[in-house]
Amino acid sequence: MIVILLGAPGSGKGTQSRILSAKYGFKHLATGDIFRSEIAAKTTLGLKAAEYVKSGKLVPDDTVTEMVAGKLEGAEKCLLDGFPRNLAQAHALAPLLSRQGEAIDLVIFMNLPKKEALKRLTSRRVCGSCGEVFNFISRPPKTEGKCDQCGGNLTQREDDTEATADKRLMVFEDLTRPLVVYYKAEQVFQEVDASQSLEEVTKNLCAVIDSSRALR
Ligand code: AMP
Repeated sequence: MIVILLGAPGSGKGTQSRILSAKYGFKHLATGDIFRSEIAAKTTLGLKAAEYVKSGKLVPDDTVTEMVAGKLEGAEKCLLDGFPRNLAQAHALAPLLSRQGEAIDLVIFMNLPKKEALKRLTSRRVCGSCGEVFNFISRPPKTEGKCDQCGGNLTQREDDTEATADKRLMVFEDLTRPLVVYYKAEQVFQEVDASQSLEEVTKNLCAVIDSSRALR
């Protein structure tokens, strides 16, 4: 089963993907997470991607697609978080899946107003040690600046500052939103209101996945 979570930065794709992957056993393929760890490890791919990620621009399509192709190989149950991000990537994904006998089963759009997305992004803090995500408005840590899970230091992602977050949301509107129309026409499209509580969004995502699995 191949599921795509589509949504603006800040809509909760990463958080929900981790919950859904644990529940259903999906392989979680998060392109942003992969780039961040490649950048931290200073690999060739990381060095190529660093400037784009830092400034909130999309990494060039051929670089992303090549990386995703490698990660998708042999994956039968996969949750795509952050890919595809534009029409060219959507066009590249279909043949990658079909060559291993797979197809997209579901595209779930996590719909969130831009103003709310910006608020969530700029108030997000991430644990530098274990990657746990907090938000000083909706999910503050018990001790300020410290991770509840491992006690690591919480930091702001470089691309979550107001100016860069705003830029990322513009990139979403210009390049990623057209995928809503594209996948609606492909009949695999579902939409969930991402402005609800984390638990409510999880419940609605599970309902969508369960009804799709029931059809198989
Ligand atoms: P994310 O963690 O999904 O918000 O992604 C962080 C950054 O990684 C983005 O702003 C882009 O610079 C880069 N990135 C992640 N996924 C893609 C993608 N599919 N295509 C191009 N760039 C991407």
